[in-house]
Amino acid sequence: MPLKMLRRLSKARKMRWCCIGFKAGYESAGRRGTAYLVGRDSLGAPEFLIQHRAVDKGDENHIKSDISVTIITDSRILFCSSCGTNLAEFYKDSLDELFRDDLELGILKKHESFVLKPQD
Ligand SMILES: [Zn+2]
Repeated sequence: MPLKMLRRLSKARKMRWCCIGFKAGYESAGRRGTAYLVGRDSLGAPEFLIQHRAVDKGDENHIKSDISVTIITDSRILFCSSCGTNLAEFYKDSLDELFRDDLELGILKKHESFVLKPQD
């Protein structure tokens, strides 16, 4: 496991979480399945995304298909989908600790779905 990922997990273990579901989703970001991403929007306001991945990060180009396939989707959320907590309020003091640049969040500029186009 890369050092950057180990540091992130170590930091994540000390975090106060709204629930175990959000913690698990945060820690699984980048892996196939559902995850939570945390960052700030272009105005600096807290932004939370729920992300669904069909494949692990880095495996996107291994999919071969004759049709267009959406393999990653991001949707902005205001409340934890596991416990209903207002995320911006609950994580207001730890927001920047939760940010992960290795997941290409930047200022959460990636709202579009990752669509794999059919190959010619
Ligand atoms: Zn929660």
